Amino acid sequence: MNAQQLSVRLMKVAEHVQAGAVVADIGSDHAYLPCHLLHHGIASRAVAGEIVKGPYESAKKQVRAEGLEDKITVRLAPGLEAIEPSDGITAVTIAGMGGTLIASILEEGEGRLEGVKRLILQPNVHAQAIRQWAVQNGWHIVAEEILKEKDKIYEILVLEPTAEEVQLDAKQLLFGPQLLKQQNDIFKEKWQREAAQWKAIAERLENAQQNEDIRTKREQLLGKIALMEEVFVDENS
Ligand code: SAM
Repeated sequence: MNAQQLSVRLMKVAEHVQAGAVVADIGSDHAYLPCHLLHHGIASRAVAGEIVKGPYESAKKQVRAEGLEDKITVRLAPGLEAIEPSDGITAVTIAGMGGTLIASILEEGEGRLEGVKRLILQPNVHAQAIRQWAVQNGWHIVAEEILKEKDKIYEILVLEPTAEEVQLDAKQLLFGPQLLKQQNDIFKEKWQREAAQWKAIAERLENAQQNEDIRTKREQLLGKIALMEEVFVDENS
């Protein structure tokens, strides 16, 4: 893959970046996304942040190879520490990691989000952690997408700051308020896959030697299974 032939997943992330944005792509091995955004005239400048030396070197190499060194700054830094106030970042993309890690990057670097108008986040799993962070930190969900590429299912969450209080119930946190309304075929497939796994794990836990942890874990799984059944019953009623 290169910046000209972006994966469908990263292409969808790119579609949510607004024209003229100054973008920080965090966890930017190869810097494919920022290179694409610059080549297509979507972003005006970008920072590519990487925590690991090897991918950081790959990102630098890619930016050099694409002749974009004057537009993209590559920094070796953890999370949002890659952003400096003078960058004037207006949009942050974080893709290809777990939702819990993305939420912790946002939580730890919140001070660096000043002036940022949009977050485009693509968790591979556990998007719920991001929705929870959004509710607690004054961001609301302006768009959600679900897509399938090479048999993997991905979610994309687009957040913008809001002064209003945001509330999401347990179903909206788990499934996503917009995805829940749309309930497209990929959404159904994702949750059928998840439910099959939850049921198998819950069954193993039921047969395991019981202790407090096992009981709590099983109750959590049963809670999620019940929510899922409600969603699909609602849909069929
Ligand atoms: N964003 C690209 C994509 O979606 O294809 C790369 C995804 S890759 C699986 C995740 C990258 O994030 C790795 O290169 C990893 O080193 C980097 N990473 C993980 N935690 C990070 C953090 N806290 N700060 C910056 N980069 C991080």
